[in-house]
Amino acid sequence: MKVVKFGGSSLANAAHFEQIIKIITSDEERRAIVVSAPGTRFKGDIKVTDLLIKYAEQTLAQEDTAAVEAEIIARYQEIAAYFSIADSVMEKIATVIHGLKSKSFENNDYLMAGFKARGEYLNAYLLTNVLTQLNLPAIFMDPKEVGFLVSDVAQDASVLPKTYANLANYQNETKLMIFPGFFGFTEKGEIATFSRGGSDITGSIVARGLKASVYENFTDVDAIYSVDPHMVKNPQSIKIMTYREMRELSYAGFSVFHDEAILPAIEGQIPINVRNTNHPDLPGTMIVPERDFHPTKFVTGVASSKRFAALYIHRYLLNKEVGFTLKLLQILYKYNISYEHMPSGIDDLTIIFDRKQLNDTMVKEVCDEVNDTLHPDQLEWIDDYAIIMVVGEGLQKSPHTVENIIRPLSDNEIELHMINQGASKIAIMLGTKQSDADAAVKLLYQHFFANNQIDS
Ligand code: ASP
Repeated sequence: MKVVKFGGSSLANAAHFEQIIKIITSDEERRAIVVSAPGTRFKGDIKVTDLLIKYAEQTLAQEDTAAVEAEIIARYQEIAAYFSIADSVMEKIATVIHGLKSKSFENNDYLMAGFKARGEYLNAYLLTNVLTQLNLPAIFMDPKEVGFLVSDVAQDASVLPKTYANLANYQNETKLMIFPGFFGFTEKGEIATFSRGGSDITGSIVARGLKASVYENFTDVDAIYSVDPHMVKNPQSIKIMTYREMRELSYAGFSVFHDEAILPAIEGQIPINVRNTNHPDLPGTMIVPERDFHPTKFVTGVASSKRFAALYIHRYLLNKEVGFTLKLLQILYKYNISYEHMPSGIDDLTIIFDRKQLNDTMVKEVCDEVNDTLHPDQLEWIDDYAIIMVVGEGLQKSPHTVENIIRPLSDNEIELHMINQGASKIAIMLGTKQSDADAAVKLLYQHFFANNQIDS
């Protein structure tokens, strides 16, 4: 059995529905379908999820919500009308949308989750009806009935292990199973969503639960590319890569596939195939377990992310001082801050954070407390920090990669704050100024790909 997930850009209007139905019916192994909410139809259009967020915000502010409700309903109506779907289906959709504003929720976070989740819920419900109308037997897999259980973090939930056993009950289902992506139910019965883009996560969970042979993730690009295609024109596509290469690259900004969606597939050892809904004949990118994988290139991809900041600490004889790092981590623990990386020298330590975790007041408080507790000789908060990742299973066998990375950067006066090699066997991490990050990625791509992988 194959589990197939379609993103919002593949489900934005009736023409897209026709296209995905062609894809579903062209392979009888495609038995379980996971859908996002309708995405954007044209430049400047608004995703249904964002309309639902607006609806939730207006409800909380006790504003008039009639216009946004009508806009959301119209998105489904456009698709239903094209397929001449029974009025009763649209009536139910309209009732669900109108009813949201008067429903009660545990708190505003759950309210937001409850609103957002309706986008996928109603799209799965509509697709089930479209398929049935076309004489393709299909069932709507309501996450509540299926037992799709998640932790009680309203808008950033994670799956509970029981869900896998619950899904396994449907392995022999003969009808097409249509799952709404993005959300599940807490054990208390509240709706909780994954983080944004989380239908990818649902797809991976369903694939693991149903023990699929492959998880096909249909989106709007032909493949995953070796570099962000917004940065480099016509970059090389990646035909095959490992889970951990994908994990490293999505951490640093490859956004085609949600980074949290990799774990369920790894646990189930299910290959992921990222493909284009608009070019379904293309093979896309396969993401596979590392065993039996033979890299053909040293570097698979280059990515960068500018979401970081760093705290630099210098203290003479830091290497001899017992408990220094412990005390530092205790301060971070107190402020509930996790760190991303911690490269260290003899008398120096740099801690790299995701900048989103700290507001300016926290930065000041943390720095003051570090000064008062640890008395460093020097302390510097670096707000301008980007991370570049050069990733490839082949790096393990490539003695000259660091040299090949540094040369093009130094030739172009790009200053490196940090190089981290060895912590991960398959990735080399570089710290730069945010303003240098794009240029560095382009240079590295040029060096490793346009010159056909000169490393040896
Ligand atoms: N519709 C949700 C979002 O826009 C989830 C998803 O599409 O995967 O974030």
